[in-house]
Amino acid sequence: MKETSLRAGELQFAYTKRYFEEFISSRPKFKKKMEDVETPSLLIDLEGIKSRYVQIRYHMPEVNVYYAVKANDHIDVLKALAEVGSGFEIASIQELEKILSLGVPPERVISSNPVKPAEFVRFAYQRGVNRFAVDSYPEVDKIAEVAPRARVYVRLVVPNEGSEWPLSRKFGVDEETALSLLEYAKEKGLVPVGITFHVGSQCNNLRNWFIAIRNASRLWERARSRGLRLQVLNMGGGIPVRYMQESLKVEDIAYYVKGLLRKYFSTPPYELQMEPGRGIVGDQGILVARVIGKAKRGDENWLYVDTGVFNGLAEALGGIRYPIYIERKGDLKEWVVGGVSCDSMDVIAKKVYLPEPEVGDRIFFLSAGAYTTVYASEFNGFPKPKVIAL
Ligand SMILES: *Cc1c(COP(=O)(O)O)cnc(C)c1O
Repeated sequence: MKETSLRAGELQFAYTKRYFEEFISSRPKFKKKMEDVETPSLLIDLEGIKSRYVQIRYHMPEVNVYYAVKANDHIDVLKALAEVGSGFEIASIQELEKILSLGVPPERVISSNPVKPAEFVRFAYQRGVNRFAVDSYPEVDKIAEVAPRARVYVRLVVPNEGSEWPLSRKFGVDEETALSLLEYAKEKGLVPVGITFHVGSQCNNLRNWFIAIRNASRLWERARSRGLRLQVLNMGGGIPVRYMQESLKVEDIAYYVKGLLRKYFSTPPYELQMEPGRGIVGDQGILVARVIGKAKRGDENWLYVDTGVFNGLAEALGGIRYPIYIERKGDLKEWVVGGVSCDSMDVIAKKVYLPEPEVGDRIFFLSAGAYTTVYASEFNGFPKPKVIAL
């Protein structure tokens, strides 16, 4: 038993070490920063983010990309993406103000959260944003009132199996309801323009794309046969990045999705959209923290660090496993990594194999670019990680 678990540990550490070394060697600017930056800090690679955008566009040139701002709303990230021509998917007045402050035209902004505050819809519409998702009658009524004649697209529910961060219970309607919502929107004076879905965040299951596109095509055909002139197919987010597991590659998703679109849409929609968040920023950030304590509790070895689930690593609670690395040599031990706060929920990872660090050592969380600092609170008085864009 002992021996097999050590093997697994060695493999795990070898994977993390290789990822860490690749990350650093291709980013010379990061090396020094990681050694002397205050902890905790999130270092973000702007060139890397632009490359991810370009990579997605390159593999799916027919798809317009609207970056989901909530994944990481740091102004330098938004600026870098605006520079390469990205669109933006937003949900709040604050997010919209940031985007408009960069000079991005409102036509490059969409809002796909199906349930939005009325003040936000009014504010966005007045500033020229004119595409909003819906998946309920009250939302159609709301938009008709504060944004008359706005364009709307309906959120179809699709399976989220195998996605780390499923979203399918909170949002989305079945085909029948979607159809009547589109018709209802038209009666209310809105312009029904299309369909959206989300396969679930960190989606490593190609089958979700298959079901989603096939079901969307059925709705598309039915809507057209009822005289609704749909134009937009929005395929949401869900592009995964590597954590403790490798992920599907953008090129493979692209190849598959393009095949499905050819098969199920005899005439392609006038505009194809995607709204990746994680897939653009997730693996372009490294969280630099520090070991603040060690303890042996029963037969568990605990490491305590100066960040935690309330301080940026919230997704650890939902099953995201960040590769965790320290620059030490020596025999590997199995660790539980605990966060900085007093809360017993604040545990970042279990079964982490690392050589034994000293208190004060730097500890690195890879793939920490998405849904980290945006989630961070100052719970227990600990400051949020600084974000440093390089
Ligand atoms: C969060 C969100 C996204 C981005 O999802 P990722 O899985 O990070 O790509 C896209 N669209 C909508 C509507 C979202 O709520």
